[in-house]
Amino acid sequence: MSKAIRIHATGGPEVLRWENVPVPEPGPGEVLLRHEAVGLNYIDVYFRNGLYKLPNLPAVIGQEGAGVVEALGEGVTSLKVGDRVAYAGSLGAYAMLRVITADRVIKLPDGVISKVAAAIMLQGLTAHYLIHRTHAVKPGETILVHAAAGGVGLLLCQWASHLGARVIGVVSSAAKADLAKAAGAAHTIVGTATLAADVKRITGGEMVPVVYDSVGRDTFLVSLDCLAPLGLMVSFGNSSGPVPPFELSLLSAKGSLFITRPSLATYTAKRPVFEKMAADLFAAVAAGVLHASINQTFPLSEAAAAHAALEGRHTTGQTVLIP
Ligand code: NDP
Repeated sequence: MSKAIRIHATGGPEVLRWENVPVPEPGPGEVLLRHEAVGLNYIDVYFRNGLYKLPNLPAVIGQEGAGVVEALGEGVTSLKVGDRVAYAGSLGAYAMLRVITADRVIKLPDGVISKVAAAIMLQGLTAHYLIHRTHAVKPGETILVHAAAGGVGLLLCQWASHLGARVIGVVSSAAKADLAKAAGAAHTIVGTATLAADVKRITGGEMVPVVYDSVGRDTFLVSLDCLAPLGLMVSFGNSSGPVPPFELSLLSAKGSLFITRPSLATYTAKRPVFEKMAADLFAAVAAGVLHASINQTFPLSEAAAAHAALEGRHTTGQTVLIP
């Protein structure tokens, strides 16, 4: 037998149960992976609480992990037993052992330990597509980043500031503002009560060409008010709840705005693109442009406590679960 965190019904952190599970067998095209570290991401909360639908129950949630290949399924030639790999975006990570399609893992460069890979793979690839493809951030541009001291947030601050952008980071406390600044944010705003006015002051009335909003319901409308005419609203998460339906004409009234609701799965669907993005990510880590801020580590068996901390806004940077 092996061990995994499973849920039998959606709900609060208490539905996460540490249970005995059979050792899975890799099928054709799959590998058996022994996790050395599992990444905690906000999407895990959405699957746990039912906002995102699971294919069946009981289920093992979690989207990100790193470890060692233990066995190969039929037809796998791209990997060998003992390879160190990581992945992002494949449900079933909260387990000591899992099977995964060989096509969805990336071999880790020497020097990247599993804990770091599990911390930054999903959030780093997200930061990658957000600032290179959803909107290609340009030197001298001012951009607005919500939850700037969070997992994705700190990586966005690091990478966008390296590209020459002036990052305005939105956070909920002075301590989080310090973290965002240390990661490269030129300005921080604590709280959203006067957000549009604050952005107006910082930008001399210009407002910003792009807002990266992962908070969702609570910040959607005020984020639109922070955009310059023809600006792009990137609504990429729901940590405060999903954005309710809105009148499309709002976008014209607020300055012919653009909007997108992207997901990592779309941007990494093609294997060659996925490989290139991962190579860019690890090159950025090697060059010191990006670094993991693993500010919380929990035993995997205590995933419930990790979820409570994440939802309670008590975490900063990345959180890793150790099997
Ligand atoms: P974070 O570490 O950013 O944690 C969430 C943060 O959101 C909190 O720390 C908090 O920061 C802020 N927040 C604001 N309002 C709330 C609220 N009501 N409840 C809880 N948190 C709140 O998480 P991740 O880095 O894992 O993910 C960030 C966001 O990005 C999530 O929404 C996630 O779904 C999204 N995401 C989207 C992807 C995509 O491809 N679309 C891929 C990866 C992540 P503060 O206290 O400073 O306000």
